[in-house]
Amino acid sequence: MKKGLLIILSGPSGVGKGTVRRYIFNNFDLDFTYSISMTTRAPREKEVDGEDYYFVTQEEFQRNIDENNFLEWEEFVGNRYGTPRDKVESLRNQGKNVFLEIEVNGAAKVMSNVTDDRVISFFLMPPNVKALENRIRRRKTESEELIQARLEKGKKEMSMAGNYDYIVLNDTVEKASQSIVDYIKAKNRKSR
Ligand code: 5GP
Repeated sequence: MKKGLLIILSGPSGVGKGTVRRYIFNNFDLDFTYSISMTTRAPREKEVDGEDYYFVTQEEFQRNIDENNFLEWEEFVGNRYGTPRDKVESLRNQGKNVFLEIEVNGAAKVMSNVTDDRVISFFLMPPNVKALENRIRRRKTESEELIQARLEKGKKEMSMAGNYDYIVLNDTVEKASQSIVDYIKAKNRKSR
């Protein structure tokens, strides 16, 4: 059986990665599975454990590092985030396309560690930096200090967009999602 694709989506905090991902999952039938990450961050108001993330303690996260359970993990503005390795591998081996929504350093690790040719990476760009700030502020989940830290980090992330297969502008969710899906379909046709 053909191995499932590994799809990586990155982009600065506030660009709308989650919205684009949900739009793609709800509107296109591509047999995607979202890889739920583990994090030490506290849940936001509407987030559900086991759906948005597995929310864990520092100790539990460390135990998973020690047991080599992560395909990659990174620290992001004071919290740790990691991709569970077994899940990703077993799903791909069952032919499922696995979708990772992760930050740039973790994405770089995945790109260099996963060496098969069924990996495709996207960097989602905001139309402008102000749009990012507005979005993070609207969420009303971060302190001023954390908002500034996320914006700074976002600028660094945007400087790494060239490492990705495709840079996609998020001017509208529909257009950005459609281009991502078109690139995925083209990749699927190519690497059989
Ligand atoms: P947030 O706190 O906004 O949910 O996530 C912060 C950043 O961490 C986002 O860029 C998100 O994509 C990224 N992230 C989420 N899960 C993972 C993961 O498992 N690994 C890495 N490296 N980054 C992740």
